[in-house]
Formats: sequence, structure tokens, C-alpha cells
Amino acid sequence: MTSMAHDPSLEKGSKKRVRKLVQRLIEGASRPGPGPAGEPETAEPSPLSPEPAVEAEKIPSHSPEPAVETAEIPSHSPEPAVEAEETSPRDVEPTGEPEEERESLPSDSEEPITPPEHTDDGGETWSMLSEAEAQELRDKPLGEILLQISALEQGQLEEALSVQEERGGNLGEIVVKLGYARESQVLYALSLQLGIPFLQDVPVEEVDPELCSSLPIHFAKKHGILPIRRDGNAVLVATSNPLDIYPLDDVRILLNQDVKPVVMPTRAIIDSINQVYDRDSNTAQQIIEDFDEDSLDLITSALEEPTDLLDASDEAPVIRLVNSILFQAVKQRASDVHIEPFERDLVVRYRVDGILYNVLTPPKRIQPSITSRVKIMAGLNIAEKRLPQDGRIRVTIAGKDIDIRVSVIPIAHGERIVMRLLDKTSVLLKLEDIGFSPDKLKTFNRLIHRPHGIILLTGPTGSGKTTTLYAALTRINSPDKNIITVEDPIEYQIKGIGQIQVNPKINLTFANGLRSILRQDPDVIMIGEVRDLETAEIAIQASLTGHLVFSTLHTNDSAGAITRLIDMGIEPFLASSSLIGIMAQRLVRIICPDCRQKYVPSEEELREIGIDTEMANTKSLYRAIGCGNCLGTGYRGRTGIFELLAFDDDIRTLILKNYDASTIKKMATDKGMFSLRQDGATKVLKGVTTIEEVLRVTQEDVVSQ
Ligand SMILES: [Zn+2]
Repeated sequence: MTSMAHDPSLEKGSKKRVRKLVQRLIEGASRPGPGPAGEPETAEPSPLSPEPAVEAEKIPSHSPEPAVETAEIPSHSPEPAVEAEETSPRDVEPTGEPEEERESLPSDSEEPITPPEHTDDGGETWSMLSEAEAQELRDKPLGEILLQISALEQGQLEEALSVQEERGGNLGEIVVKLGYARESQVLYALSLQLGIPFLQDVPVEEVDPELCSSLPIHFAKKHGILPIRRDGNAVLVATSNPLDIYPLDDVRILLNQDVKPVVMPTRAIIDSINQVYDRDSNTAQQIIEDFDEDSLDLITSALEEPTDLLDASDEAPVIRLVNSILFQAVKQRASDVHIEPFERDLVVRYRVDGILYNVLTPPKRIQPSITSRVKIMAGLNIAEKRLPQDGRIRVTIAGKDIDIRVSVIPIAHGERIVMRLLDKTSVLLKLEDIGFSPDKLKTFNRLIHRPHGIILLTGPTGSGKTTTLYAALTRINSPDKNIITVEDPIEYQIKGIGQIQVNPKINLTFANGLRSILRQDPDVIMIGEVRDLETAEIAIQASLTGHLVFSTLHTNDSAGAITRLIDMGIEPFLASSSLIGIMAQRLVRIICPDCRQKYVPSEEELREIGIDTEMANTKSLYRAIGCGNCLGTGYRGRTGIFELLAFDDDIRTLILKNYDASTIKKMATDKGMFSLRQDGATKVLKGVTTIEEVLRVTQEDVVSQ
């Protein structure tokens, strides 16, 4: 225990001071300082400020920043309009999503905090102590307490102490960083030391909403503080940083009541804050209801003078409303937000998993405010109401970097806005994760490792082609390959790949970009889309001169792409010698596992999708119902279905002889190719999706069964 002698007296003394201060706080005394308080301790200059000894014990993860940063939703970086909002983050925060917060918390809090889940570091030792045992540990050095209550071993403690000696910092932080104890354990130890009660978490329904409403959410998050309930004459307040009593003191002033601190882990507090504030208000609907005529007039007049708006924007309900619309969109995984004016009302719709839903019907009278607000955010001209405009908004919503492409077009009843949300932080999918069956994955993988040739992906917009392309490029990406793309837009940036953004304004088209790429000595080329003969010709040229080329075409099925190229003006022999594979794809929604219902489909349904009755009888088939976990849609997330046409000599011969698409497709299916619908049927049989869903996305897929 010699190493524990690391300035123990100072440590202990400071701790005592802290406890005393906490005690004073509870008793309603005000901040220490040059005030009337006669106790010698408080007469000392700022005993709690970053004095080394106290600092040494501050728990790391409580530095409030992480939680706060992610909580700042409306940081639309470059535009000034945005800055105006940053000053008022709480406007949107209340809808904070717990998951997002978690991601952004310090690493230690990524682990579950509740004791039963602590298996890797000796969770058993973590159980709470009895009153008597707790009493024993009071005022003991933190390290000593941790030795008793956690799996921390003497050697580890000594290591932590020597790290502390070497680099400074807090013992608790170091122990957590070294992985010897968890934040929650360190906090528990601290609570024992200070004699403050400790709580793992608090059920959201036990939190008094009235108390929370008197505390701004950004304050709560910044300091990791949550008022829980009244307890006698005081208010029980959870804190994840019991050593920092100033925020507690502020709570006392804000609530005008004494506070009784309880220690609670950071993540539990942030989760509770999100849930409580989310529960209580600030849905878009709520904001609309809060609109009153006066504030509306104010906003409308302010909007006529953009500069005024920027100055006075902080609390404007329209800003909160638009922020809330965007926030909810991200929360519900929407890919697009539509704001559509009709004669009598305004409709806000989200596209989630490819399907549009009405989410909100704000009153018509606030339409101009909403439109102007979005246009300002997107850097558009708010005075121009007769011409279409395009712009961009960059926002951070709950830690996600979202790039929003905004399109505004004038229609009969005002300006129609569509915002496409691109989550820059979303993870690129691997080929294994996009829905391939094992044999299809094998075939596709073989194709993308060929040295040259063209691989085309086909399907309408929103069929997941880009995701597949990125997955393919990521798979073959390696330092010995030069991969260059021309895209519109670049949806994800992939390390090690040169990506060019098409820009028609400066005549950087797919064709021009492609031509330039070829002078950059590429091995693999990806062209976002083949739209015209020129691009198609260069792509073919590139593949014939030894490059692997990926691109997309807007055709329904795989064989249709061949005829499409020939219709564009490509010679059949060029198509047959350059193409190596064509894959049609669609996205089907994945049935919600929480509410799906087993059922027996009708003969007709089975016939339509091509599943025979006997087969259906041996499997469990489901239909979508809808529950709280899937927003009542019955589905959650999407996966791909594929029709992969890998070229062989027979297919090439048919193309050379200029056979039509259906003959080519017939030959391919005879050789074992699954059509989109057939591939969908296999997913129905696996319980991944529904018959209805597969039929919906394969309406135009005409297969001779
Ligand atoms: Zn559900």
C-alpha cells in the first residue's frame, strides 16, 4: 500500500472539503467564497476549482463536452443562419435520441452499465455494499475503495498511480482508461467516499417532468445533471460528477429548492435526460400547437428582413419547428423529407425504407415561414419564389453528420420542398450484408475480381445500386489497385479511392470525367450512371483496353440493359465482348421481427410469387402487422433482392445475333439464374420479408414461371 501514500493526506483533506461543501449545499448554503460563511474551509480560495489534489480524483468521463457536442443539433456549419441557432441548442435537443448519445460518449460508457452485464471484469464484485460496509469506506482513498469494490488489483492500482505520477490526471480516469474498472464503479467508489447515495439508473416515469421543465436541457446535459423528484424539502438530483458542486448549486438556484445529490453514471443520466425531455414535449406537433398568432406575425415580418431573422432567430418557433422536422426525420431513418403545399394545408412527409408517410400537417398560414426558413438554411434566395432552386444544408444531428440536398420548386400553391438526407457517418455495407444468397455472393465476387470488363447494375432510383457499388469497390480496394470514380453525387467517401463529383456547370459530365480518368492510369473505374451513347462508348473502350468498369443503368431487369445499350447505339458485338455481368436489384423491406404474424397465404398469393404450396407448408410465412418498434409499418430496414446475369458464351452468342431481351432472359433462367421475384421468394421463405413486399417491388418483373 505504499504507493497509496501518493499524497494521501492532501487527497483526503480535499475530499473532506468537498463533502463538506456538498453537505452545505444540501443544507442550502450558497457557494463558497468571500461570502458570510464563517467556516474556515469555505474561506479558502475556491477549494473546488482545478486544484491538483481534487482534480486528481475527478472522474474523466464527466467532462461534459461529448454529451453536449452531440446534443447540438442545429449546427448547420457554414451558413450564418446556422450560427444563430447554435446559441439555442435546447430548442431541438429535447428530442435527443439515446442511441446517438451513447455512441458519442467516452469509450468506457459504451459498455452496459448495469451490474449483471459486467462479466468481463468481475461484475460480481461490483454489487452494492451494505450500509455498514459503506460506512467503513467513507473517506478512504479512492484507490483503496476500488480495490474493495471492483476487480481492480493492487498491481493495477500501482500501475495507475505511477501513470498518474508520470502524466498527471485523475486516478479514476486512469483506472478506467487502463480498463481496470468502469466509470460506474469509479463513480460508486466516489459516492462511497463522499457518503452520497448511488443510483444505477432511474426509470423515466419516476422523474418529475415539472422539475425538468425548469432546467434547460443543454444545462442538464452539459453538467450531467438530472433532477429526479422532490424529497421532503429538497430535490433529489442525480449527478455524474459529484465533485463539481457548482452546477448543483445552480440547480438549487434554478429550482429555488435545496438539492440532495445522488451519484449516477453518465450514460444513465444522459439516457434519462433524453427520455424525459423527449417524453415531455417538443415534438413538431407540439411546436405547431405552440404557435400563436402573435409569434407568427413576428416571424413573418422578421422573415422579410433576413438579417433581422438571423439576429432574432434563436427562439423563433419556426426554427424549432424546422429543426424538429429534420431531427425526427433522422430519428426515423428517413431518406427524404417532403414539404408540400396544397390549397388548404401543408403536408410534411418522410420517406422511410422507400415509402412515403405523412407525418405532419402544419397550418397553411405558417407555410411561408417554413419555406423561408428552409431556404435560408440551404443558402437559397428567399425572395425568388418563381424559379426552382437547389441548395445544401449541412447539419449535425445527434452526432450524425447529415448532408441535406434541398430542392425547391414553385407549384400552384406555393413552393414544394424536397430534402434528401445523406448520413455521412453511416457505415458502408459489406458485400455480405446487402442481401446476397451465398452462391450469388460467390458469383458476384468472382465477377468483381476480373481484370477487365463491364459490370452493370440496373434498377430504378432508390434500389440500392449505389450501396452495392460501394460495397464492391470496398471489397476490391487495395493499395495495388488504382480505383477512380465519377459520381453524382458522391454519397460516401472511401479511403484509397479517387472520387470525382460530376458538375454540369463547369461541363464536368460523366463522359468528360471518364475521359480524364483514363489518363490517370486506373485499374478500376466506376461511372455513376450511363446516360448517353458517349459515356457508354468510352466505358466500353475502357473495358476493352484492360479496365474493370462499374456503372448503372435505369432498366428494370438484367437482360433489358443489353437492349438498352444497343438502343443507345452500341454495336451488339461491342456489348457482347465488353460486358461480363449485369445485375438487376431492388430493395425489399425487412419484416419487423417484433410484430410479424405467421399466416397461411392463399393459393393465389403463392402462385403469383412462384412458391409452390408444398414448399410453403414446410416453412413459416409471415405478414406485416405494425407495432411501436416499426412506427406501425410492420417493417424495419431493407435488404436487397438480386437478379444476376453472369455472361457466358451462350449469352454472348444471343447478343451477337441480336436476340431480344426476353430470349436472353429465358436462356439465363434456364441456366439457373433467379429472377428478382424468385430471389424475393427465397427471402419470403426465410421469413425475411413478405409476399406482398416482394410483389410490390417486382411488379414489372415478368418471369415465365
Ligand atoms: Zn413492428
